[in-house]
Amino acid sequence: MSRSEDLYTQAQISIPGGVNSPVRAFNGVGGTPIFFERAEGAYMFDADGKRYIDYVGSWGPMILGHNHPSVLEATIQAAQRGLSFGTPTEVEITMAEMIRKIVPSIEKVRMVNSGTEATMTAIRLARGYTGRDKILKFEGNYHGHADSLLVKAGSGALTLGVPNSPGIPEDFAKHTLTVNYNDIESVKQVFAEMGDQIACIIVEPVAGNMNCIPPVEGFLEGLRSICDEHGSVLIFDEVMTGFRVAPGGAQERYNVKPDLTTLGKVIGGGMPVGAFGGKKEVMDYIAPVGPVYQAGTLSGNPVAMAAGLAALQQLSQPGLYDQLYQRVDTLLNGLQERADRAGIPMTTNRAGSMFGFFFTEEPEVTTYAQATQCNMEHFKTFYHAMLEQGVYLAPSAFEGGFMSAAHSEEDIQQTLDAAEKAFAKLV
Ligand code: PLP
Repeated sequence: MSRSEDLYTQAQISIPGGVNSPVRAFNGVGGTPIFFERAEGAYMFDADGKRYIDYVGSWGPMILGHNHPSVLEATIQAAQRGLSFGTPTEVEITMAEMIRKIVPSIEKVRMVNSGTEATMTAIRLARGYTGRDKILKFEGNYHGHADSLLVKAGSGALTLGVPNSPGIPEDFAKHTLTVNYNDIESVKQVFAEMGDQIACIIVEPVAGNMNCIPPVEGFLEGLRSICDEHGSVLIFDEVMTGFRVAPGGAQERYNVKPDLTTLGKVIGGGMPVGAFGGKKEVMDYIAPVGPVYQAGTLSGNPVAMAAGLAALQQLSQPGLYDQLYQRVDTLLNGLQERADRAGIPMTTNRAGSMFGFFFTEEPEVTTYAQATQCNMEHFKTFYHAMLEQGVYLAPSAFEGGFMSAAHSEEDIQQTLDAAEKAFAKLV
């Protein structure tokens, strides 16, 4: 037994499923999760000392690669000054100003500790601001695990949501309307019926939790005009896409301005950070200036702020994003070429430094239904063949991949060599 397998056995005794977040458990691909010990640049090293080229990047934050020296140095220096004060600090102003500069639709911003907190509060704020209870989300979009958001479409009906998990009262779920991603007609239909009761639309402007599915032309623009027409708040959940698909996120890439934006992942440089921000008029509804309550013992934590700020500063280097996009192109074009040569039906999606590949006969994947109909057996076999060869992909066919600035041409070539062997196993 490997040390990693030993650790998994031991972990299951004291931790439910042996993991502190379910997708880490490898349920989507079978086998046992790998326990990791350290990470550097594009690589992670497991408990047995094996090296992997990492395309998960801690589920998105590590856009600069692991353990970036400037981020590490800033974090250590901040820690030496004190781990937490529970008071305002100057670094929070610097962070807020930096966010406003990079994401101009954000006029005011509040820091929190996770993406879940950010979306949960953005929704409370939208409800408080509009005085309406209902919210609209898209099937297959994930916004963290707050009660109102763990809701899927009820069978057949477009209108009544049902809980995605025991523990969520139906009375909460019924306020969440769920429609199809990339289908503006379904949104129009719901709004025609009950637009005056809908506080907000929350959307992943590039879906990254049903693999990677970019918005089709006109989708985000359509959401903007529907919200304008009905006085609803448009929330872009950019926890994954923020600072990732363009410096200013999906709103910059697709040139559509939301009223509120939620952020997480990259913004903490690897520390637990989230944020929500947007129009001053809406943000001033939050406590202490406004009536909508929100708080946090560790919010704006000085060590987390220092790490995030250092990461954002590094990201402003000229040419960094172009290099990321070009690396994604090299990887995906190389994968497609090898899959085609092996006769394996596969297609890819990309948005900036986010990417996905789908084992399907369809020429392109733009919907949740298409994503769920892909060949899961192919994915599982491919996944384990890549893992064996030292390439760490997300252990689920419903997660996108992330490129980092630390991935070299050589890393990508090694990945493609491994993929060629993995595709051969699918024939
Ligand atoms: N929103 C999106 C788009 C996400 O991808 C995630 C997490 O993957 C979240 C919200 C929740 O963030 P967290 O896991 O930090 O609570």
